[in-house]
Amino acid sequence: MSNSSPKVGFVSLGCPKALVDSERILTQLRVEGYEVVPSYDAADVVVVNTCGFIDAAVAESLDAIGEAMAENGKVVVTGCLGARAEVIREKFPDVLSISGPQDYASVMNAVHAQVPPKHDPFVDLVPPQGIKLTPRHYAYLKVSEGCNHRCTFCIIPSLRGDLVSRPVEDVLVEAEKLVKGGVKELLVVSQDTSAYGVDRRYAPGTWRGREYRARMADLCAGLAELGAWVRLHYVYPYPSVDEVMPLMAAGKVLPYLDIPFQHASPRILKLMKRPAHAEKTLERIRGWRSVVPGLTIRSTFIAGFPGETEAEFRELLDFLGEAQLDRVGCFAYSPVNGAAANGLPGALPESVREERQAEFMKVQAKISRQRLKRKVGTTQRVLIDEVGPTVAVGRSSADAPEIDGKVYVASSRKLKPGEFVDVRIGKSDAHDLHGTAD
Ligand code: SF4
Repeated sequence: MSNSSPKVGFVSLGCPKALVDSERILTQLRVEGYEVVPSYDAADVVVVNTCGFIDAAVAESLDAIGEAMAENGKVVVTGCLGARAEVIREKFPDVLSISGPQDYASVMNAVHAQVPPKHDPFVDLVPPQGIKLTPRHYAYLKVSEGCNHRCTFCIIPSLRGDLVSRPVEDVLVEAEKLVKGGVKELLVVSQDTSAYGVDRRYAPGTWRGREYRARMADLCAGLAELGAWVRLHYVYPYPSVDEVMPLMAAGKVLPYLDIPFQHASPRILKLMKRPAHAEKTLERIRGWRSVVPGLTIRSTFIAGFPGETEAEFRELLDFLGEAQLDRVGCFAYSPVNGAAANGLPGALPESVREERQAEFMKVQAKISRQRLKRKVGTTQRVLIDEVGPTVAVGRSSADAPEIDGKVYVASSRKLKPGEFVDVRIGKSDAHDLHGTAD
């Protein structure tokens, strides 16, 4: 790479959706001939892509901006926290520019103003699949941005706006490029994947000579054509989920659903204004498992929501026992600046919220452990992520990267990252599986 390329430092914080934004900005920077450098010293300007979802993420984002200001001083801020510019300006009045999520043009304008692009269209050619921050063999595929719901604990709609879905053919073309570039697993992300296409009235598009509607099941059918693993995140228990079950049963989409249920008590779900809160969740789970017996369900919950009674918390624990979910995270309720739930009566003391969260996790740990134990003696298809000196680490269909467990694989031959292997499972523990492959 030429020494005279303008240099940009990049700090990416937040969720997989923010990661997709970072990848788009990095791709544009490379298209324009910028070099992305790993140190503050070498950078002409630093871009910080922030998260503003919960207070801890706000603090982390402000720390990252502070560090970039101290170490470099020329800082462009973007992402979710950027939508609350006053919070940033108050602490760091000298940042060069502040923009909200997905505002790639503002970021590029701010970078151009600080250090103009090099005028040589032949330098730093970008691979056609773009620049990815995730390992080459898996990639996040963002299908929509924003959300039409108004959950009372969440400020994402005020940061990111209402649902805007991408045209189905654009998503399929991007996925195709990713797979051609070596991606073996596509992680479908959005704020509400089951609502994909609602805003476009499911408008059809053409890809590879066939018509697909902008609708979750159609999109999945298209993605299934690519031969990569397709994993669905942030799905709500709407009837549209039933349409995907046959694809999972046929092995075309991974038998995995990431559904943030958040609670089980109808009254609390109503207070949370959760989408699909009236659906009969347990019945739906039973229905899905009858079509896809090996379905893995991951979910997240909130314990200690304002007004949650002891009986409602017990209802949540009973639900866990019945639902037998595979992977579960639980947060003690924590007020998010600007969220409507802060005004609800009956806020619980922090000690109660944390006790409930701990009790919840204890109950679920037992369930998760038992469910993993049932896999001992089976053979699982595993995608290898990393290779160490003695064991390789990979994931089965039940494990999304970064949030779920892992499969530790011993093999007499040298495995490669991005390779699929069949692993005989010999042991399980609270989160992970251990096995051998030929
Ligand atoms: S569904 Fe609810 S929690 Fe999820 S982004 Fe939309 S408003 Fe927030």
